[in-house]
Amino acid sequence: MTIEENLKTIKENLPEDVTLVAISKTKTIEQMMEAYRAGQRIFGENQVQQMEMKYPEMPKDVQWHMVGHLQRNKVKDIAPFVSLIHGVDSMRLLRRIDLDAKRNDRVIDCLLQIKIAQEESKFGLNEKEAIEILSSDEIKELKNVNIVGLMGMASFTEDKAQVSEEFASLKKLFDTLKDDHQLTTLSMGMSGDYPIALENGSNMVRVGSAIFGEREY
Ligand SMILES: *Cc1c(COP(=O)(O)O)cnc(C)c1O
Repeated sequence: MTIEENLKTIKENLPEDVTLVAISKTKTIEQMMEAYRAGQRIFGENQVQQMEMKYPEMPKDVQWHMVGHLQRNKVKDIAPFVSLIHGVDSMRLLRRIDLDAKRNDRVIDCLLQIKIAQEESKFGLNEKEAIEILSSDEIKELKNVNIVGLMGMASFTEDKAQVSEEFASLKKLFDTLKDDHQLTTLSMGMSGDYPIALENGSNMVRVGSAIFGEREY
């Protein structure tokens, strides 16, 4: 299957209100342009350096999403153009994003990453920490960041019931917070589990290998 065919198949199965982020990490400009020509405009990378390198090579109407763990000292490199940062997991990082956004005269949209997986290695906030950030006085002072939703990654397991439970827990948190904090975006689901994420109310899926093929590092 070509990238174009893969995209078509995935989009046919996505409800209209669900945003597809094409995760292009490790993929070439040529491969990304194939997706672009098939209509894809939102691309996600997990490394600042990769995103910085690819940005000038791609058409200007591409929207760039940062989906990886972001170090504070690297925010400045993507602040001029990034359209959504998915993996925000601390107030310190929010402060830095606000600062670098201000320097670029922008407001940058962010998602708080919530730890929903059982696994140790996954980044993210717990529910209490997320609520603390959203309800803090400080976040109101940060005029150049806009928290628009939540993001989570389920455990890497064949156990679909567990994955479903993890996504459901994030949806529940999203529903309790969305009205008070004007949250619109719930980013959950990757190639292996996005159908389960959709069943659990996701409205943004991050799909890489199912579009571009397996990654070789
Ligand atoms: C790589 C990555 C994806 C996409 O993974 P696939 O399994 O290739 O779809 C989604 N989200 C994040 C945060 C990633 O790092």
